[in-house]
Amino acid sequence: MTASLASGKLYIDGAFTPAQPGRTASVHEKATGAEIGEYAQAAPADIDRAVAAARAAQPAWAALSAPARAAHLERFAAHLRSRYDELIDLSMRETGGVRAKAEDEVSAGLRQLAISAVQATQTAGDILQPYKAGKLSLSRAVPLGVIGVITPWNYPLNLAMRAVAPGLAFGNTIVLKPAELTPILGGQILAEAAHHAGLPPGVFNLVTGEGPEAGHALAEHRGLDLLDFTGSREVGLAIAASAATDLRQIRLELGGSNAFVILDDADLDLAASCALIASLEFQGQTCISASRHIVLRDVADRYVETVTRKVAALRVGDPVRDDVDLGPLISETQRDRVHQAIVQPSIAKGAKATTGASYEGLFYRPTVLTGVTPDMPAFTEEIFGPVIPITVVDSEEEAIALVNGYPMLMNSVFSTDLIRGLTVAERLQAGEVHVNDAHARHGAENQMPGFTRRQWIGVQRTPLDTPAWTRG
Ligand code: NAD
Repeated sequence: MTASLASGKLYIDGAFTPAQPGRTASVHEKATGAEIGEYAQAAPADIDRAVAAARAAQPAWAALSAPARAAHLERFAAHLRSRYDELIDLSMRETGGVRAKAEDEVSAGLRQLAISAVQATQTAGDILQPYKAGKLSLSRAVPLGVIGVITPWNYPLNLAMRAVAPGLAFGNTIVLKPAELTPILGGQILAEAAHHAGLPPGVFNLVTGEGPEAGHALAEHRGLDLLDFTGSREVGLAIAASAATDLRQIRLELGGSNAFVILDDADLDLAASCALIASLEFQGQTCISASRHIVLRDVADRYVETVTRKVAALRVGDPVRDDVDLGPLISETQRDRVHQAIVQPSIAKGAKATTGASYEGLFYRPTVLTGVTPDMPAFTEEIFGPVIPITVVDSEEEAIALVNGYPMLMNSVFSTDLIRGLTVAERLQAGEVHVNDAHARHGAENQMPGFTRRQWIGVQRTPLDTPAWTRG
C-alpha cells in the first residue's frame, strides 16, 4: 500500500486534509487498469488556503540558517530513500515505465535533493566587492518567496524535485500541483516525506487535482512570487499569455520536436542503437525524446533497415516484468493522439510504416515511419509516443535548416568525424546537443535560472557500450 497518510488528501499547513467539497478521483495502474489509490480534487478555495499557508510560513523558513534548511532536505531524502523499493514499484505501476526508467527517476530526484542541500549552504552567503575607496557593494541571494510548482506525469518525482528541492533549499515555500495521472509519486509521497522530515507547517503544500481547475487556479494565483511550470507548449502558452497581463513571474519548461541527425559518415549501428534510447525510452514520452530523424540520402536505406530490425525485436508488455522493453502509454488520450493525430494522418499523406503503427489497449507497437516530409504531423509535432519518423535530405545544410525550423529542447548528431559532428552540433539551436549519443543526463538536474543561455554539448567516443535491449 502506498501513500497511506496522504491518500485522497491535500497537504496544507502541515495537515493532511480533504479538498473542500470533499471530491476525490481514482489513480490507476497504467498496464492493468487496476485502482492503486485516490487523490483529492482541489478547488480554487483549497489553492487559496495553500498559498496563504505558504506565505505565512515563508519568513521563518527563510530566516533559518542554510545548514538548518539543508538538514530538513536531508531528512526529506532519507524518508524517500527508506521507501526506495516501494517507489520503484510505484513508478512502474503509476507511470507505466520499465524498472530502469523508474530507477532513473527516483535516483535523479534523490540526487537533486542532495545537490540542493549542498548548494544552499554554498551560495547563500554574501559576496563583497570592492567598489571605490571607502565603499563596498554587497550582493546576496535572497529567496523569491512563495513558489507554485505544476508538474507533468512522465517523470513525476524528479520533475517535482527539480523545482521543490532548490526552492526549499534557498528559503522559498512551495505549493505543488502534480499531474492528475500520477498524483501519488508526484505529490502524495512527497507530502509524506515533508511530514516525516518535520518540515515546519506551510513550508511544503500539496494540492492535487485537475489541470483546468486546480492547475489553472494555482497558475493564476496573485499570491505567488513565481510559478514554475513543466508541461506542454499548449498550456505553457496560455500561462505565459495570462502572466503577461500583469507581469507575473513564471518559469516554463515545455516540449518541442527534437531532432536526431544522421550524417553520411555515421556509424549506423551506433546511431540505430541510440535511436532506440532517444525515441523509444519510456515509450517516447520524454520531453527530450527524438521526434524527427533527419538522415542524409546516401545512408538512408541502411539506416531504415538497421533501425527497423532493432525496433521490430522489442518486447512490449507490463513494465513490472523483466522481459519487457516498452510498457503502455500513459492514457487513452495520449494513445489516440499518437495514432489518430500523428501516425495515421502522416501515413495518409504518404509516409510508410516499416514496423508498428498498431496497438492493443494502451500498448502501442514501437513504430518506424519512412518517407516523412515536413508537411506531416510526424515531422512537425512533438509525438510523445514510440515512433521514429525518418526524413531524408540531400545535404548537411538542408539538415541543419530543417532542424532549426521548429522549437526543440535537445538534438543529436551522428558522424564518425568528431570535428564535423561538433561543427554541426554548434549550429543546431537547442539547449543541449549530443554528438554520437542519445540524450544523456549531462547536469540535467540543478539548472538554476540565470541570465545567460547555456548550451550543453555531450560527446561520446565510438563504439558505444549501449544497453543490451538496444542492440537487436
Ligand atoms: P500538460 O501541459 O497537459 O500538463 C502539465 C501539468 O499542467 C499537469 O499538472 C496538468 O494538470 C497541468 N495543467 C493542465 N492544464 C492546465 C491549465 N489550464 N492551467 C494550469 N495547469 C494546467 O502536459 P503533460 O501532458 O502532463 O506533459 C507532457 C508535456 O510536458 C510534453 O509536452 C513534454 O514535452 C513536457 N515536458 C517538458 C519537460 C521539460 O523539462 N521541458 C519535462 C517533462 C515534460
